[in-house]
Amino acid sequence: MLQVIKAPDSRLRVKTTAVKKITPALINTLKEMIKLTKTFKEPEGVGLASTQIGLDESFFVARLDESARLDARLAKRAKDGQRFMMVINPKVISMGKRSKKYFEGCLSTPNIWGEVKRATQLKVSYQDENGKMITKSLKGVPAWIFQHEIDHLNGILFQDRVLEQKGKFYKFTGKDKTGTDMFEEVTI
Ligand SMILES: [Zn+2]
Repeated sequence: MLQVIKAPDSRLRVKTTAVKKITPALINTLKEMIKLTKTFKEPEGVGLASTQIGLDESFFVARLDESARLDARLAKRAKDGQRFMMVINPKVISMGKRSKKYFEGCLSTPNIWGEVKRATQLKVSYQDENGKMITKSLKGVPAWIFQHEIDHLNGILFQDRVLEQKGKFYKFTGKDKTGTDMFEEVTI
């Protein structure tokens, strides 16, 4: 059974190398990663990179669909988590000039959140599980997730981005009476 590695752990700092051959074992690992990510509900797991399970090749799984744009049938599948994608050897081809602050968390740093400024538009390429080369444009949340995961593959955690940008960290402190998540500023 796979487990998510928590920071600080040197395995999260590994710079990954390209996957040379897509083997059945790799596909199996990717499937297990999707299953594992789906077990995280609070906060919801939206992506998991190889370094987070102690591997050193370049791949991740992530929800890269904008649910709002999907039709009802696809949206239901997205809810079931079947729209996780297997992303192998990802690259950012170009980044849009505009950026936005995202309130970001990570399965490897439970309970800590921070604001990270990231590009709102990206052109990316990667191989899917069949080895097919995919090139696509991402914007909004999928673009943000892609940047977070590709950082993992370079040994970079979102806290590094927060510190670099002199942003703020927050700790989840529970829910108020209305069920709204509450946060408190912290220093790490
Ligand atoms: Zn992460």
